[in-house]
Amino acid sequence: MQNISNLSDICERLGELKTGIEQACQRSRRASSEISILAISKRQPIEVIKTAYACGIRNFGENYVQEAMQKIEQLSDYDDIYWAMVGHIQSNKAQAVAQTFSSVHSLDSLKLAQSLNKNRPEQLPPLDVFIEVNLAGEESKTGFPAQHREDWEKLIPIVEKIQTLEKLNLKGLMAMPPLFDETEQVRPYFTRLRELRDFLNSQISGKKLLELSAGTSSDFEIAIEEGATVIRIGERLLGPRNYSR
Ligand SMILES: *Cc1c(COP(=O)(O)O)cnc(C)c1O
Repeated sequence: MQNISNLSDICERLGELKTGIEQACQRSRRASSEISILAISKRQPIEVIKTAYACGIRNFGENYVQEAMQKIEQLSDYDDIYWAMVGHIQSNKAQAVAQTFSSVHSLDSLKLAQSLNKNRPEQLPPLDVFIEVNLAGEESKTGFPAQHREDWEKLIPIVEKIQTLEKLNLKGLMAMPPLFDETEQVRPYFTRLRELRDFLNSQISGKKLLELSAGTSSDFEIAIEEGATVIRIGERLLGPRNYSR
């Protein structure tokens, strides 16, 4: 089954998404200019990305390095796309990511940070990075453990170390909380993410972490109410993904 959303579908969904962002910002007395949309284009054909581009979207996020590399290559003429990697990066893929992407939202080890830093080409701007945290201690998920207070303490030297890496620009934290039947149940995790950021900022000496990458199609309003600055939206914006190939 091939799903290709047409131009008006995606532009219309973008308009609805912006309205949703606006309303969540009003409820939480935030400025909508603080929120940026990262369109998650994993498992979407190249045509969908081109269509979203025509609607004005420039920030795209991918999960799988190999799939992403092919798309970035095919879309090399679209040189103002900001490509973000949001999925786990195996160590043998770090070099390719450092050479190709603008940002990594899934920084889940110090070793990966060092490898990305080492492999980031001099002529490119520093790679924007988000430290991925595992707030619920889920075994199935990557990210630095961040369930307990001791975990929070352990993150302080990690943040400070990453901040010394010159070809990385540490922006903030990223989380992918557990899935619930009742969306509202996710709120405490987004709250904890904000509290963790504020805790780290109170403990580190260097530049403050400002950004929170949190919220997807199903829960972006709650994420915004709890402080998200980047929301990662897949199906709600680009349409159903194709898992068949
Ligand atoms: C797939 C994915 C998203 C987007 O999910 P949707 O439910 O399609 O909005 C966001 N973040 C990550 C890390 C993802 O893997």
